[in-house]
Amino acid sequence: MQPLVKKIKDRVNIVDIIGSFIKVDRSGINFKACCPFHHEKTPSFFVSEQRQTFNCFGCGVKGDVVEFVKMYEHLDFKEALRYVFDKSGLPESDWQQNQERSLKDIQEDKEKKDAQDIFEKVVDLYHTNILEKESENVLLYFTNRGLKKDTI
Ligand code: ZN
Repeated sequence: MQPLVKKIKDRVNIVDIIGSFIKVDRSGINFKACCPFHHEKTPSFFVSEQRQTFNCFGCGVKGDVVEFVKMYEHLDFKEALRYVFDKSGLPESDWQQNQERSLKDIQEDKEKKDAQDIFEKVVDLYHTNILEKESENVLLYFTNRGLKKDTI
């Protein structure tokens, strides 16, 4: 998902998006606000327009624009990304392409996992056959080769 995230973040301004949820005031090169994630009367929540990040010195929350929307709106990563995507003005086709790519990634991960599962089953099977069923010929073969039972 990385390229789309970057593309989206290049097109939106974290100050505008956070500013659409809570009141932010300019403070030097940064913006400050009362933190929406903990109760406070004096602002310790800072938004950096330069770095496109937020950071609260009161409760320690920090992150980028997607992270903010995720926490503020109680969304998962993909929903938050979609929210910011809608603000970015990027064409819908960019989102669709990204969805197809993530589906492919999930498929590849599943194939890797399946291969791993098969390998573990084979190891189990050998283990069961050699030790638990006490296949004497096999045990004898290993013992004759000088292997201790633990090693086998
Ligand atoms: Zn806070």
